[in-house]
Amino acid sequence: MAKVYYENDADIDLIRSKKVAIIGYGSQGHAHALNLKDSGVDVVVGLRAGSSSWEKAEAAGLQVAEVADAVAQGDVVMILVPDQHQRSVYAEQIAPNLKPEAALFFAHGFNIRYGYIKPDTTHDICMVAPKGPGHKVRESYVDGQGIPAIVAVEQDASGQAWPLALSYAKAIGATRAGAIETTFTEETETDLFGEQAVLCGGVSKLIQYGFETLTEAGYQPEIAYFEVLHEMKLIVDLIWEGGITKQRWSISDTAEYGDYVSGPRVIGEQVKASMKDVLNDIQDGTFARRFIEDQDNGGQEFKALRAEGEAHPIEATGKKLRAQFGWSKADSDYVDGSAAR
Ligand code: NAD
Ligand code: MG
Repeated sequence: MAKVYYENDADIDLIRSKKVAIIGYGSQGHAHALNLKDSGVDVVVGLRAGSSSWEKAEAAGLQVAEVADAVAQGDVVMILVPDQHQRSVYAEQIAPNLKPEAALFFAHGFNIRYGYIKPDTTHDICMVAPKGPGHKVRESYVDGQGIPAIVAVEQDASGQAWPLALSYAKAIGATRAGAIETTFTEETETDLFGEQAVLCGGVSKLIQYGFETLTEAGYQPEIAYFEVLHEMKLIVDLIWEGGITKQRWSISDTAEYGDYVSGPRVIGEQVKASMKDVLNDIQDGTFARRFIEDQDNGGQEFKALRAEGEAHPIEATGKKLRAQFGWSKADSDYVDGSAAR
């Protein structure tokens, strides 16, 4: 059984006795910084000079400094810049300014797992990774609740890395919900697999194929949108609440029978074989290398794929429908690429 830690398993005073430098003020960065501050922790946010987040962080009452300066002050340094930039930020601004005994924290194990960052042996290396997007981590903390997190220790230089990681998890609200013990390797590989095969890659392609199948057969795109995308949330909410069993309890017998006989035809054995291939590429580093090489090349493949996804006809149909109906105002969240981040 996985080990799960709750409020009583963590001593919040430990993190309160440290200065915490949060590097980056995006989705996770703003949530960690504000939750820590509200938990009575001394926080400095590290940003690039001229960063558009600088004023936002200061307006929220946070101390802000350039990355090098924030790192130099930190007993704990949490790296919350995008995974593909962590390697260079670490080499150029973090490593040269890091206190010899500072603890390094991550919210995803990518750079440690694949060796893009190799910290000295004097540093604790910990992970506190909330299992939810940053704005939820903040919202739920403010509501007196928390988003579950997973915690790991890769290097315990101080002998206190675990209590420190748990203390940090408590201060961002995670132990209110539960903090699950894992390793950097397990977190990185399962996280990448989950988002690629099921949550992001799998679901997106399933929706697109469903939409294409219906519209190519002559059905109206608006109807297809409702059937294969809009209702997805309602179904997923049921699964989230009570597992697949609760979802099947709630739907009609017709839908449930169709689930049993047609689900395995669509998602057949070949899909599982492909999932294993995807997992292999994650485990042997093929995916990580491809991602980083493309990023080093200006993200050309990444940008082309993003443009291709945005041009899929279901996006235009959905945009029109969501603007017409009153159930969602979410489009504005990402229009300028900054509201939620
Ligand atoms: P993000 O893209 O939302 O924000 C990154 C921040 O870093 C931005 O403020 C950006 O301005 C800043 N930044 C970018 N390059 C920089 C540089 N060179 N120097 C200084 N600052 C720079 O990132 P995010 O989604 O919050 O991801 C941060 C980490 O959290 C990643 O390791 C990610 O895997 C992990 N994580 C994210 C989520 C999530 O919900 N987004 C969930 C769990 C874990
Ligand atoms: Mg993830």
